[in-house]
Amino acid sequence: MDGAATLVLKRGADRRLRAGHPWVYRGEIADLKGRLAAGDPVDVVDQIGRFVGRGFYNPRPSVACRLLTRVDEPIDAALFRRRLRAALDHRRAIGRARENPPIGPCGDGEPEDRARGSNTAYRLCWSEADGLPGLVVDRYGPVTAVQCLTLGMSRAAEWVVTALHELFPGDFIRRVDDETAARIEGFEPKTRWLGAPGPEEVVIGEAACRFAVGAGHKTGFYLDQRDNRLLAAGHAAGRRVLDAFCYTGAFACHALRAGAESALLIESSATALAGARRNLALNGVEDRAALRENNAFDALRQLEAAGERFGLVVLDPPPFTRRKDTVEAAARGYKEINLRALRLLERGGVLATFSCSHHVTPALFEEICRAAAGDAHADLRMIASMTQSPDHPILLAVPESRYLTGLLLELV
Ligand code: SAH
Repeated sequence: MDGAATLVLKRGADRRLRAGHPWVYRGEIADLKGRLAAGDPVDVVDQIGRFVGRGFYNPRPSVACRLLTRVDEPIDAALFRRRLRAALDHRRAIGRARENPPIGPCGDGEPEDRARGSNTAYRLCWSEADGLPGLVVDRYGPVTAVQCLTLGMSRAAEWVVTALHELFPGDFIRRVDDETAARIEGFEPKTRWLGAPGPEEVVIGEAACRFAVGAGHKTGFYLDQRDNRLLAAGHAAGRRVLDAFCYTGAFACHALRAGAESALLIESSATALAGARRNLALNGVEDRAALRENNAFDALRQLEAAGERFGLVVLDPPPFTRRKDTVEAAARGYKEINLRALRLLERGGVLATFSCSHHVTPALFEEICRAAAGDAHADLRMIASMTQSPDHPILLAVPESRYLTGLLLELV
C-alpha cells in the first residue's frame, strides 16, 4: 500500500507468523519505516520485504503487533463487518446464537422458551480466534458487551459499533474494557453505553436456569463455563454440593435445579455473593442454598476441620497466574485447593476442577491434580476433560486462545 508504514521483521521471525500465529513481539522487530504512531495500522514484512500481514502497531506492550489480515486488504469498516458477520455465522452453525430472544431486560422468559432450554447469551467474538485480535464481544439478550484489549482495537471501536448495529438493529451496545489490558496497552478503559443506554440488568436463559447479568467480572458473566456447568450438574442429584469461587452462583444454581440436596457457595466478593443470592432466587432454589463470604482457601480448611463431606465439589478459581514466570507458585495454589477439595469428597463423589490461567496447560493441570490425589490417597477416575465452551473457539496455531482447562473426576 502506498505510504503505509512498514514493520520489518528480524530474520526467521516470519516463520511463526506464516504458520498461523498472529503476534509480533517487540524483540522481533528489525526496523520500522514510515510515519508510525502507537495504534496505527502497519504492514508487516519479512527481512527481504515480502508481505506477511497487516495489523495495529503498539510499541508499549511486549506484543507489538497482532495481525488482522494476511492478505493485502485494508483494515477498515468493511473488514470488521466481514469478520463479525463470519463470527455470528459460526455461532449459528454451532447452535449458540439465537437472535431476538424472548427473555427481555429484567423480564420473564416465555415458558415454552425456557422449556426448550434457551440460550440467550453467547460469545460472539473471541479475539484471535475470530480474526479480530484484541476484541471480545459477548451477547446478553438485547445487550452487546464490547471489550477492547489493545490500543488499536480501542481506536477501531467505531467500526465495531457500526457492524454490530447492522447485525443487531435496535440493540444496545456497552463498552466494558478491562483495566489491566488498557494499562498495559496505554489507553483509557471505557465502561459506558455507546449510543442509547440499555437496561442495567438483563436476565438470560442458560438451559434450565436464568441468570441476572449486570456489570461484574469479565463482560458480566462467565459464558466460557456454560457447558461445564451442565456437565457438573449431571452429577448433582441427591448430593450436597460445594461451589467454591462461586461468583454469581451459576454452578450451584444448575446443580440445585438438577436435584442437588443442598449447596454451599463460597466467594470472597460481597458484590458477587449478592448476585448469587439474586440468581438462587430467580431459579427458586434459595431455600437449599447457603452462602459464605470467605477466602476459599480458609473455607476449605475450615470445612475439612469440621469433618464436612460433599458429593459434588466445584473449584473454579480466578487465574492464579497471568505470567509464565509465576507458574510454579500458581501450581502450588492449585494443588492446595485440589488436595483440600479431595479431602472433602465422599466416596463416589465428583470433583469439577478448573484453571483459567492459559500458562497452565491441560497436561500441567492434570499433573497438579495427580499430585494432589497422591497426597490425598485418592483414586480418581476421569469422567471428562473440559475446556471453554465452543463459542470461545480455540485456534490450533494459537495456544493462547485456549485458556480454560478442567477435569471432572470421580472418587473411586
Ligand atoms: N464459577 C463462576 C466463576 C468463578 S470466577 C461462574 O460459573 O460464574 C472466580 C471467582 O472467585 C470470582 O468471583 C472471584 O471474586 C472469586 N475469588 C477470587 N479469589 C477468591 C478467594 N481467595 N476465595 C474465594 N473467592 C475468590
